[in-house]
Amino acid sequence: MAQKRDYYEVLGVDKNANDAEIKKAYRNLAKKYHPDLNPDNKEAEKKFKEVNEAYEVLSDSEKKARYDQFGHAGVDPNFGAGGAGGGSPFGGGFGDFGDIFSDLFGGAFGGGARRANPNAPRRGADTAARVTISFEEAAKGCKKTVKVNHIETCSACGGSGAKSGTQPKTCPTCNGTGQQVIQQRTPFGVMQTQRTCSRCGGSGKIIEHPCEKCSGKGKVRITREQTVNIPAGIDDMQVLNVRGQGDAGSNGGPNGDLRIEVSVRPHPIFERDGFDVYVEVPVTFVQASLGAEISVPTLDGKVKFKIHEGTQPGDEFKLAGKGIKRINSSGRGNQYVKITVEIPKNLSKEQKDMLQQFESKTDDKNYKKRKTFFNKLKGMFD
Ligand SMILES: [Zn+2]
Ligand SMILES: [Zn+2]
Repeated sequence: MAQKRDYYEVLGVDKNANDAEIKKAYRNLAKKYHPDLNPDNKEAEKKFKEVNEAYEVLSDSEKKARYDQFGHAGVDPNFGAGGAGGGSPFGGGFGDFGDIFSDLFGGAFGGGARRANPNAPRRGADTAARVTISFEEAAKGCKKTVKVNHIETCSACGGSGAKSGTQPKTCPTCNGTGQQVIQQRTPFGVMQTQRTCSRCGGSGKIIEHPCEKCSGKGKVRITREQTVNIPAGIDDMQVLNVRGQGDAGSNGGPNGDLRIEVSVRPHPIFERDGFDVYVEVPVTFVQASLGAEISVPTLDGKVKFKIHEGTQPGDEFKLAGKGIKRINSSGRGNQYVKITVEIPKNLSKEQKDMLQQFESKTDDKNYKKRKTFFNKLKGMFD
């Protein structure tokens, strides 16, 4: 069986593409390869079929979910895998007889109902890795190298499991079919059923000289380093899916995905909420009273900002577009700056005298909030 292309690849969309994106990609391609527009073009005809097949699966949420989990084996009835649950029971040759038989007898014979075909393509398992990045790296995106431990197709034998220079032999018990025919006497007469070949385990092949590297398994577990592009805007605890970098698939099935859990270290002064950045900037009470040009840290470096005369503690202002890049889209969040006013401590005698002198010269018009407060208070306890 020729190996099928990945459906997402066929439509040229990302695995996380939404329905609208999938539909749009399908429309463009279907138009491009439509037989009416490409008469007598075999290549276009093939592409057209491929595109339609991909869309049929990816536009159906149930099929799409099966495909995401099991790959082609999950949606193609020809593969007859356990996960498929479909396929015409009357469509094929001898192989289907066992299924009908099992259905009739509730799996009393032959060890049960449909059994997964060991030769069916199977998707490799997903693997996981973890990476810790700084606040700035999360905001701007970065490249990181992670150690991944996963199962690969053995490079020495190319996955056959047979020692280099040898070939797996056809199983003599089942003649390579992977199935043994069993005759059973039943109330309806003698019936034939089949079961997985006990000698080769259903693969139809016997390995006489196993590959030394993988001991005949055709797969090896390895640890390697992989460089991953971490997109700008990623947040703490988010998981990046690196498609096809998990465990190797079997029998031509697709690889699993590598899932990378991202952890973002907290920043000493910035805080984050979604794509907005929050920072508190302390100023002196003199700066707050007189107004001042202050220096505000942003992800792009320091910027100058003028606070006006009479700025109050807790006053907030916004630096539009100075936040974090929105992941997988354009634009950035905002930065919000909150002013805190620091009251001085450890004053010298001279400083205290100056403040006393200053205080004696202030009145209600300098302290509106205070005035209102005491006006309300008047008469409350008399
Ligand atoms: Zn090998
Ligand atoms: Zn066999």
